[in-house]
Amino acid sequence: MHRFWSALAGIVLGCAMGAAAILLWPSSSSVFSKTVPHVEAAVVRSVAAASSTGPIQVPILVYHVVRPSYPSDTAEIKKYAVTPELFDAELAHLRDAGYHVIGFQNLAARLASSTPLPTKPVILSFDDAWGDQYRYAFPVLEKYHDTATFFVFTNALGSRGFLTWAQLKTMLAAGMTVGDHSKSHPYFTHLTATSSLMSEIVDTKRVLEAKLNAPVIAFAYPFGQYNARVLEYVKKAGFVFGRGDAWRGPDVSPATQYTLSALNAPTSLGEFNRLFP
Ligand SMILES: [Zn+2]
Repeated sequence: MHRFWSALAGIVLGCAMGAAAILLWPSSSSVFSKTVPHVEAAVVRSVAAASSTGPIQVPILVYHVVRPSYPSDTAEIKKYAVTPELFDAELAHLRDAGYHVIGFQNLAARLASSTPLPTKPVILSFDDAWGDQYRYAFPVLEKYHDTATFFVFTNALGSRGFLTWAQLKTMLAAGMTVGDHSKSHPYFTHLTATSSLMSEIVDTKRVLEAKLNAPVIAFAYPFGQYNARVLEYVKKAGFVFGRGDAWRGPDVSPATQYTLSALNAPTSLGEFNRLFP
């Protein structure tokens, strides 16, 4: 058990590291736009992304922990933990500001056949299969009739503190989608054996699709790590999208569909509202 929770802590901190780098830039939100103007400008540009012929720009948000804050929460956890109240306020803001939450399947249709996207499209995603996502985020998503993609790693499913297969099925039935986040959440840049890449990327897609009876078209790289060989297996497995973390903007094209980046969900409403005007 001790080893299990140590591994868990590694995932929490590891997943947060890429996001933390983003969050540390605007340590004061009042200087955020001056410090990283390209981030804000990039999100703003998505406002004009509704045509079926122009560039496709869809910001992808990634959430990890959605739950009430605990007195024992470390500073590291606070950097990426979002309370249910804040999550509710963020979705309310997206609705009020005219954003439309879409799924990766909508993006795939846009890429494949120029099917138009709604105005101000945005994708919501959740990583790491935390059980709290079902308890606290799913009801809010249902309240706003929004969809989200839950990127899960299959070894976690059914373990203490993590989502169960039954919960995934319930969320799928309610319009959510499931994405692949590997089997064991490894460091992909350390992974070289063909058998490991097969088991972590190709086999997990088959397992998820068979058990859930639903297509799984997006893969999220654990710790945001990938290299040419990882990309090769993600394509070979039949995924349409690959998503990292470190935010580089909302551009989606055949050149970026396997190296999409995601914006770590802001942990203050003020910052969220500035990013999504
Ligand atoms: Zn992860």
